[in-house]
Amino acid sequence: RSDEPMLSVRGVKTFYGNIMALKGVDVDVYKGEIVTLIGSNGAGKSTLMMTIFGQPRPREGTIVYEGRDITKVPTHEIAQLKIAQSPEGRRIFPRMTVFENLQMGAAVDGFAHFDEDLQKVFTLFPRLKERITQRGGTLSGGEQQMLAIGRALMSRPRLLMLDEPSLGLAPLIVRQIFDAIRELNRTEGLTVFLVEQNAFHALKLAHRGYVLVNGLVTLSGQGKELLERPEVRAAYLEGG
Ligand code: ATP
Repeated sequence: RSDEPMLSVRGVKTFYGNIMALKGVDVDVYKGEIVTLIGSNGAGKSTLMMTIFGQPRPREGTIVYEGRDITKVPTHEIAQLKIAQSPEGRRIFPRMTVFENLQMGAAVDGFAHFDEDLQKVFTLFPRLKERITQRGGTLSGGEQQMLAIGRALMSRPRLLMLDEPSLGLAPLIVRQIFDAIRELNRTEGLTVFLVEQNAFHALKLAHRGYVLVNGLVTLSGQGKELLERPEVRAAYLEGG
């Protein structure tokens, strides 16, 4: 891997009013890696993801992406830097068709590779091709998740950030989605930052992982190493 991280989060503190949701977080993502951030409900995972996008802004700390300090860069400009986000709750356009949703993603890339990228998304998620004229809002949860990821991919991101893609989905669909992420990483070297409560799947997939507890990173290491750690097993894997 290269020396400089693609994304570097340093000492980030984010507040909601007087409540400190992130208490000085350090996270690095290197080009070509799948990195996961795991943690239980309310640990601050979504807050970190949103802070990277500038909403909300950190009160302290820095976020550097591809060598540029983006801590104070407006959110709409961050999207232009080829970071794509598939937020928790999916947020596809419910009244638009599958095709139109994918077009919206491609708009960020100026439709330069539309046909090629569309075929790629359909190869990855054949279900979307079958449902191309269906409105987003009528898709199943798993299909909406596929659409959200597909839409993000249509913008040709260099960094793909996913917030809990497995949320509320049946195990078979979770596997399909995680297989698709692995495939994109393996064949295209796509860099992925994955926020997940499903620690087992996430740590199996990721090269490296971070454990976030109550706004602080308490553990980090290789995905497979973390899977074996007793404290990770006790808190996130056993019975869960
Ligand atoms: P989950 O897995 O349940 O989505 P999470 O790890 O993503 O949890 P966050 O959503 O980042 O956690 O929330 C971190 C903390 O910040 C929680 O205590 C939450 O209640 C609080 N919080 C999140 N958003 C807001 C907000 N807009 N206003 C006030 N507090 C908030």
